[in-house]
Amino acid sequence: MITITDTCTGCGACIATCPTHALKPHPGHPSWSAVLCGAHRDCVEICPVGAIDWHHMVGRDFKKVGTR
Ligand code: SF4
Repeated sequence: MITITDTCTGCGACIATCPTHALKPHPGHPSWSAVLCGAHRDCVEICPVGAIDWHHMVGRDFKKVGTR
């Protein structure tokens, strides 16, 4: 899963790069769909301000494993 932090500028780069259209325009910052996400992480790589954090399921919890 991803989380988008408050450093997001709303540039839309992540929306444009997502191959499965899991990110959609939304006031404040893009919304993300777990159903559509293919875990390509293109959004994490392209974000110019490192606003997208990537998390993996560890046991019963999500653990942050990286930002760009
Ligand atoms: S690429 Fe980063 S700064 Fe741009 S809209 Fe997506 S999360 Fe926000």
